[in-house]
Amino acid sequence: MFTSLKDRSVIVTGASKGIGRGLAQRFGEVGCQVLVVSRSQSEAETVAAQIRAAGGRALSYAADVTQEAGMQAMAEMAVAAFGGIDILCANAGIFPAAKLGEMTGADFDRVLTTNLKGTFLSVSACLPAMRRRRSGRIILTSSITGPITGYTGWSHYGASKAGQLGFMRTAAIELAPHGITVNAVLPGNIVTEGLNDMGADYVRSMAASVPMRRLGSVLDVANAALFFASDEAGYVTGQSLVIDGGQILPESLAALPTDDAAL
Ligand code: NAP
Repeated sequence: MFTSLKDRSVIVTGASKGIGRGLAQRFGEVGCQVLVVSRSQSEAETVAAQIRAAGGRALSYAADVTQEAGMQAMAEMAVAAFGGIDILCANAGIFPAAKLGEMTGADFDRVLTTNLKGTFLSVSACLPAMRRRRSGRIILTSSITGPITGYTGWSHYGASKAGQLGFMRTAAIELAPHGITVNAVLPGNIVTEGLNDMGADYVRSMAASVPMRRLGSVLDVANAALFFASDEAGYVTGQSLVIDGGQILPESLAALPTDDAAL
């Protein structure tokens, strides 16, 4: 149905785990050349090796999205290895919890620096290569938390994720004349190591609040990213796509059916 993405070059930041690993593996499955990026070289290489073992093409690179020089070196590595950059998944993010009464300025800065400034630094590093080709796809991993919902302990995180969408809208306007689109996936609660670290009670209560009665998978998010990366999405820019099994829809838990079998 969609034009093949075979041979396109993709950078995925935060690709050693969770959603980023799912993005890297999915782009690898459809024939892209994937640069797997995380701060840990060994963890990034493990994912790259898994993609290669599955028949795909992938390399690993250790870089911190908060470091401008590191992001530029990452982009240069992708150009040297793959000949250019077609797609950037700016996915790296952190979500430590702290209620307002206990949150320090340093806590706030750390989350905003990684999630929001890291988005800017990774995008700007890839722009020269995309502009040379007069085409590119930038896909940000935002969240429902911040742009649409709130969650106790995540005021800094929500600000960073909403901030990504503010960044996206102006970036989309500025980059459209260069053939570059900028869009965002907004995952709900996706099963990852990071989410599992929140504990079994959190996972159970989250699944109960989702109309589809399950948490999302990294594949659910990766498939949405594939759409934004496709040629067919070439006229879509500055948009966000919620992937949450309907989680943001109910006004309250009372809005959900209590007896699914009776429906
Ligand atoms: P995760 O499992 O904790 O993985 C985070 C990834 O980011 C790891 O590869 C980590 O590797 C990397 N990373 C963290 N800080 C980095 C930095 N400064 N520079 C480079 N890489 C860095 O997280 P996840 O749940 O997959 O979340 C990924 C993205 O999805 C985040 O932006 C998050 O906000 C968003 N999201 C997640 C969910 C969910 O339910 N899981 C829902 C909505 C949105 P290293 O530590 O080795 O660097």
